[in-house]
Amino acid sequence: MKITEYIDQAKKTLFSFEILPPLKGQSLHDMLAGIEPLMEFKPPFVDVTYHREEYIYKQHPGGLLQKVSTKKRPGTVGICAALMNRFHVAPVPHLLCGGFSKEETENALIDLEFIGVQNVLALRGDADKSEGKFIAEEDGHRYAYELVKQISDMNNGIYLHDETETGFHTDFCIGVAGYPEKHFEAPSLNYDLKYLKQKIDAGAEYVVTQMFFDNQKYFNYVERARAAGITVPIIPGLKPITTLSQIVNLPRTFFLDLPDALMHELDTCKTNADVKEVGIAWAIEQSRELVKAGVPSLHYYTMSKADATYRIAKAVF
Ligand code: FAD
Repeated sequence: MKITEYIDQAKKTLFSFEILPPLKGQSLHDMLAGIEPLMEFKPPFVDVTYHREEYIYKQHPGGLLQKVSTKKRPGTVGICAALMNRFHVAPVPHLLCGGFSKEETENALIDLEFIGVQNVLALRGDADKSEGKFIAEEDGHRYAYELVKQISDMNNGIYLHDETETGFHTDFCIGVAGYPEKHFEAPSLNYDLKYLKQKIDAGAEYVVTQMFFDNQKYFNYVERARAAGITVPIIPGLKPITTLSQIVNLPRTFFLDLPDALMHELDTCKTNADVKEVGIAWAIEQSRELVKAGVPSLHYYTMSKADATYRIAKAVF
């Protein structure tokens, strides 16, 4: 079923979450066993993140270093199939512009359609770590709205080459990303919302937000999005802080603020265990307020670790 159908049919806020594919060389079975406890809260859909290629350096005899491209978390299609078979949930694979030509995107969408995937989240992706700014593939997309347009075209039976067009069309429900605290490259929140609207106009049917720790930021964002003519569901993304290092890393990586009230509590923490208790309690409060406000789903960034999300969901759902 499509995400929009789950939302339309739901009588209350849904529970959903995001997982990372296991690192190459690690077991999918272990990862699935790790998230199994979360199935108690009946998530209709589970997102599967995508990780573009990275470069590693291989040392050869004589000290020569060779730069080698590798994907450390491959296996999206297999994970989607495993989620459907084992848990009967709708997988939502993330698709990136970065590292993909339009032809590779078309082929990836065909694979996903063949295994019965009905939902995708269309993203630009970040810059390659070795480059300062995002650079599209020669025959790839520069912005997520262009990727949305390609998926939308396939939903209308329009492929890259005329000879492929036989009348058969895909039927993906397309989600996109939104940033209550603004995407770091956008000149202003107004411009970011203008570009969000462009993604919706290209065919996206719902939005999932970047994590935030102050619900007011989400409420303001939804209000401004509605004023900008964006009417689709906006699903809030949440992550509990669970380690001391995240206090520094989350604002730096995701360009977001930690509210003073949360920081006052985190300031008293000496260990990761202390932080985790504060983080979970904060996420429970955030979640309860968002449920009260009638949000379509609470979407948790689990990093494939179920423990903290399980405790939050147990208190909220
Ligand atoms: P876009 O919507 O293309 O926006 C990128 C920037 O360009 C923004 O600043 C925007 O304002 C600007 N912009 C957009 N359109 C235009 C235009 N027409 N003209 C000028 N400027 C424009 N990354 C991964 O690598 N893998 C994942 O699985 C993944 N999952 C994510 C899930 C969620 C819910 C979120 C919120 C983010 C996720 N990301 C993921 C991170 C995401 O790829 C980055 O934040 C990326 O930098 C932007 O992606 P986007 O789709 O929002 O890009």
